[in-house]
Amino acid sequence: MVRLRFAPSPTGYLHIGGLRTALYNYLYAKQQGGKFVLRIEDTDRTRYVEGAIENLIHELKWAGLSIDEGVCLDNEKISEVGEKGPYIQSERVKKDIYNKYATELIEKGYAYYCFCSKERLDEIKNQQKADGKIPRYDGLCKGISLEDAKKRIENGESYVIRLKLPENRDIVFNDLIKGKITINTNDMDDQVLIKADGFPTYHFAVVVDDHLMNITHIVRGDEWISSTPKHLFLYEAFGWEKPTFVHLPTVLNKSGKKLSKRNDDASVEDFRLKGYLPKALINYLALVGWSPESNEEILSLDEMTAQFSFDRVSKSGGVFDVDKLDWVNAQYIRKMEVSELAKLVKPYLLEAGFIDENICPYRLELITKTFQESISRLPQIVEQSRFLFENVEVESEAVEMRNVAHIDILKETMIQELNKIDKIDEEVAKGFMKKIQKASGFKGKDLYMPIRALLTGQVHGPELSNILEILGKEEILNRLS
Ligand code: GLU
Repeated sequence: MVRLRFAPSPTGYLHIGGLRTALYNYLYAKQQGGKFVLRIEDTDRTRYVEGAIENLIHELKWAGLSIDEGVCLDNEKISEVGEKGPYIQSERVKKDIYNKYATELIEKGYAYYCFCSKERLDEIKNQQKADGKIPRYDGLCKGISLEDAKKRIENGESYVIRLKLPENRDIVFNDLIKGKITINTNDMDDQVLIKADGFPTYHFAVVVDDHLMNITHIVRGDEWISSTPKHLFLYEAFGWEKPTFVHLPTVLNKSGKKLSKRNDDASVEDFRLKGYLPKALINYLALVGWSPESNEEILSLDEMTAQFSFDRVSKSGGVFDVDKLDWVNAQYIRKMEVSELAKLVKPYLLEAGFIDENICPYRLELITKTFQESISRLPQIVEQSRFLFENVEVESEAVEMRNVAHIDILKETMIQELNKIDKIDEEVAKGFMKKIQKASGFKGKDLYMPIRALLTGQVHGPELSNILEILGKEEILNRLS
């Protein structure tokens, strides 16, 4: 059975590229009838942000990616499901899961104790930089015998455990997307595996955990490609079966740079707050780097699951095109049940002060359906419907329309017809313009454009009968006068 994991670090928010990584993991796991696991990688305590784990779980849930195993929330409290836990690395540290593996490596000669001070490490780093070299550990402690090292530890010296890489060895692997990748150990560093505070580094914990959690496919961002040989070396050192590696192309902005919080909307939260629908965001995100064989652009999570394949993920970066996302989002908005959409736009209309909390459902749905075809994001309903609830500036074309020669005839006819009725319900609204046509003798553009201009200050817009019904008799009379 395949087992895939999404293993974010709780650094404060879920990056949109992270959500895509989670999605591809999810799609492949589900398609293969396997498991999708959520593990939290929080061994770098300096980057830990309070509440970040809860936030990650909320965002994944909002996006509709449900996990089979791993960290979850139970009554807003962090909890776990599954047999391979704990699934939070700091909890695994508490259970002392990593140390015995580090000791095993030392005993087998694949790792060594290092006692170098931070000052010394900084010094060599600066020297190497000055010499134009890539900074890396110079291997000073590699020569210390295990016996001496143990004595120094007993004497209370502070230490880290480092990976002992052989010299000049090619480490080769076949990435499912990027193809064959070769990196020579001479270009790699003797990575720290256990830090001075006793915590494992990401590189060590990731390998131990992926092994202990029986992960079969490691699907992650391509910024981890250069780390993969270190991980592979560890699998070899332990004699563990290697998983399949799949490195995903970076999510880029339109200028070809990595989507960043500084320059772009880059977190899932940014998109949620902008009023994108989770299904639409997920749909579009899948297409940033992947295309289904059918070339369809609107696909549900189930349809994507059925069609997904790593063969059709591009090798190079996928451009995140917000206009395309808007288009996809608009398709989803159009397909929604009006009653569902009404619930989603209500908070925006409330905030704008256009409606009351206890607005009747019929009226809310009427307003909603009036703009369902024209909004591509939920909050856009505010700007688009403003003319119904407030005085808005009259467009110059509408000013012209309000000055056509027969405007007074139209106004008079409207007032007369309105005075004949009690109120404008759906039926009245639908037949109203026909009545004005008959009574005034004007039709087509000569009829609709000036009346629309009078009532809305615009020459284009949604269905006039809806506008009549929403404004109602009193307000229309007001506006006419
Ligand atoms: N914790 C890493 C991150 O947040 C995950 C890398 C991996 O999937 O191996 O990017």
